[in-house]
Amino acid sequence: MQTIKIYDKEFTPYITDAEIQDKIKLLAQQLKTDYADKKPLFLSVLNGSFLFTADLFKHLTIKAEVCFVKLASYKGVSSTGNVITAIGLDTNLSGRHVIILEDIIDTGKTLHHFLPQLKTQQLASLKIAVLLNKKEALAYPVQVDYACFDIPNKFVVGYGLDYDGLGRNSKDIYQLKES
Ligand code: 5GP
Ligand code: MG
Repeated sequence: MQTIKIYDKEFTPYITDAEIQDKIKLLAQQLKTDYADKKPLFLSVLNGSFLFTADLFKHLTIKAEVCFVKLASYKGVSSTGNVITAIGLDTNLSGRHVIILEDIIDTGKTLHHFLPQLKTQQLASLKIAVLLNKKEALAYPVQVDYACFDIPNKFVVGYGLDYDGLGRNSKDIYQLKES
């Protein structure tokens, strides 16, 4: 694997396609055990999670549904400031076992502002599964239930994750090169 360049930045190889696929298989195995008879509903957060979701889903040989959503923030009338809504959420969540699928969790801000809206909907359960977990960067009280990789607080691209729109279509994950 070689260094790649996207616009002005250089990225070095970090996690290989094979390593990603191995971890995803393990996650699928775990989810199959935990959700065997629960017909879980996966909420996949676009855009970054599309490859993660597709690969995970191929290995999930239990009854399961998936819904792709885009999280968008707007300044609501609420005094708490940012409100995040899910565009494309067309499924009734009441009574469902919901698992949020995220490519990466960084500060946790996005999910922290989104979770309260899910919690009003009488879910049977709610868990969060991420491909990459930047543990040290977490600044909001968000609990990650399943993580494929714990990574340091450095910018990464590839396997769905972008730098200014590019880099998503790489099988491997790259890390921003220290300059
Ligand atoms: P949070 O709200 O947890 O701070 O941020 C989560 C979002 O920030 C992710 O869904 C992703 O879009 C973006 N993000 C955070 N860290 C990285 C990173 O290292 N690389 C890329 N490409 N996006 C990131
Ligand atoms: Mg994301």
